[in-house]
Amino acid sequence: MTIVGHFINGEISTAAKDTQDIFNPSTGIATKQVALAGANTVEQAIAAAAQAYPEWRNTPPAKRARIMFNFKRLLEEHADKICQLIGEEHGKIKHDAMGELQRGIENVEYACSAPELLKGEHNRNVGPGIDSWSEFQPLGVVAGITPFNFPVMVPLWMFPMAIVCGNTFVLKPSERDPSSTLYIANLLTEAGLPKGVLNIVNGDKEAVDTLLTDNRVKGVSFVGSTVVAEHIYRTATANGKRCQALGGAKNHAIVMPDADMENTVNQLLGAAFGSSGERCMALSVVVAVGDKVADTLVSNLQSAMATLKVGPCFDESNDFGPVITQAHKQKVEAYIDSAEADGATVVVDGRRPKIAGHEAGFYVGATLLDNVTNTMNSYQEEIFGPVLQIVRVDSMQDAMQLINDHEYGNGTCIFTRDGAIARYFSDHIEVGMVGINVPLPVPVAYHSFGGWKRSLFGDLHAYGPDAVRFYTKRKTITQRWPSSGVREGVNFSFPS
Ligand code: NAD
Repeated sequence: MTIVGHFINGEISTAAKDTQDIFNPSTGIATKQVALAGANTVEQAIAAAAQAYPEWRNTPPAKRARIMFNFKRLLEEHADKICQLIGEEHGKIKHDAMGELQRGIENVEYACSAPELLKGEHNRNVGPGIDSWSEFQPLGVVAGITPFNFPVMVPLWMFPMAIVCGNTFVLKPSERDPSSTLYIANLLTEAGLPKGVLNIVNGDKEAVDTLLTDNRVKGVSFVGSTVVAEHIYRTATANGKRCQALGGAKNHAIVMPDADMENTVNQLLGAAFGSSGERCMALSVVVAVGDKVADTLVSNLQSAMATLKVGPCFDESNDFGPVITQAHKQKVEAYIDSAEADGATVVVDGRRPKIAGHEAGFYVGATLLDNVTNTMNSYQEEIFGPVLQIVRVDSMQDAMQLINDHEYGNGTCIFTRDGAIARYFSDHIEVGMVGINVPLPVPVAYHSFGGWKRSLFGDLHAYGPDAVRFYTKRKTITQRWPSSGVREGVNFSFPS
């Protein structure tokens, strides 16, 4: 069986303390194995990044950016292959994988403006004959740890910006679908990136903990579940590293009585069931304001869901594919069981669908639950599957209170035709990314991405302008060149 290895100092290595099966979720068959790096292998990757750093740090930003221009072109040329690899290991349908790749490429485009982004700030004559400027210097070796659900896009949130800022990088992608990530690393080498600037290690907790504790690693970007994000943030910062750790989510959409119902239902379907609900921005809870809104939504969603198709990633007529593993399929179905036991109404039941010819695949059909309450586990926890839950409330204030009380604060959305209500909502809701009639308000690459509350540990968001700040240290220089013959006297008061 093919072993998916690591990419260290420009070479593939299959050094492993152990291996783990990689499944094709559409068929349920193990197709490859991934080499899990022990601490020694991770240390080699860090050493390669540390060795490449001094020269890369001094490479002009315009030269670094030119490599990113080449990389963008190669990503576009190889889009079909990248999406095929994403599909084989993640299960995403090609149209969805293309969307992921396009969002990733937009981050590479942003990284192409490195010379502009790194210009710094300058003031002439902050005092008589004194000039001052701030410049943004790289951190050194930076690590990234990424989740399974965006094996191309989330790594592209991180390493292009880190690298154009002059850092070198060690990436630990998800061990469940690493092939597309390794493939794009090869394209970056083809684009002209010197050896050692980007290294990839596959592994589990041992690999991650090595990155978190090694003194040569100066910064850590993490995206994944909240329980791991918190561990990463605490360990990395206790070891003196800068850290941003993005976690899980429970994204609510409020539907007001004046909303355009047809449009709302269409938007909800895509945002709840696209990618099998395995998106940190997936809309998983609808808060219906008033029973009339709830009843209309239930009936319209139910009939629209009858036409949804779940099936293998290689059939592009499917709306969404399988979930990532058999264990995850069971976990998602267990949440539906528990909601039902807790009193929720199962309006559309996606448990154990029969997909002809692919009976062993990890499929869960689109599921709609009504009469969900905030005391149910299925409401409190992130399900990360194609399950949409309806909570009924009497007023917009109650709807907003529900959202503000939730432990997560990643994304949210309101459907309404009332501008004043929308403005009040966006102003007062305790969530990092807000949509007004936009169900998946994922910021474009030249803004930054991040949630509030337990959806993000750390101060700076991912990609965009925050990434320049995260991947650099500010240094402020104050300069005077005394004119010949002019001498300053001794002065003991604070310079002003
Ligand atoms: P995960 O937390 O299980 O894994 C993420 C990464 O952490 C992987 O590389 C994994 O190998 C590593 N890891 C797992 N357990 C670890 C441990 N105990 N110690 C150290 N490292 C460990 O997440 P996942 O299942 O791959 O991805 C789904 C989760 O990611 C969901 O919760 C989703 O909401 C979240 N996510 C968040 C965002 C965001 O931007 N906020 C984006 C995408 C996904």
